[in-house]
Amino acid sequence: MSHFSTFIERNKTFADTDARLAVPPIPFVPFQQTFVITCIDPRVEPAAILGVGLGEAIVLRSVGGRVTPAVLQDVAWISHLHEAKTPDADWFDLAVIHHTDCGSALYADDDLRHDFVTRGGYDDRTIAALAVVEPAATVREDVELLRAFTQLSSRVRVSGHTYDLRTGLLTTVLA
Ligand SMILES: [Zn+2]
Repeated sequence: MSHFSTFIERNKTFADTDARLAVPPIPFVPFQQTFVITCIDPRVEPAAILGVGLGEAIVLRSVGGRVTPAVLQDVAWISHLHEAKTPDADWFDLAVIHHTDCGSALYADDDLRHDFVTRGGYDDRTIAALAVVEPAATVREDVELLRAFTQLSSRVRVSGHTYDLRTGLLTTVLA
């Protein structure tokens, strides 16, 4: 029995219901016309903290919820797909969420980061800049990056938010 076997069992329960049928067809616009970028941290699971249901939102997760080149490429693809395939559909909201007590803050630990970049051959300054120490500040940076990103349609509304693990509340930084 692997740890994942728990989820295989839950999948069987899911497949026994009709829930899988209530999703938009591809090329799709999610039911709530929302694209969320947030951290991989299991404590900030969008299904739990935002109540995101199946088919309601595109959720892209990275360490810290940071907008890296890989994240930008995926955002560009969705924007391109939307423009090419569903030009008449309403555009969506893109919400970036950074959170308190983020593990990415450990990128600011010089010894820890140094060993990591040495092992992987990464650029030290690039990795150091990914640390979410002040979520309100870093989410602002990433929203500004997305708003200036020419591959993203200007019809997409980009907003930035912080999530406080102690209160469970989201605070809007840039609407
Ligand atoms: Zn995090």
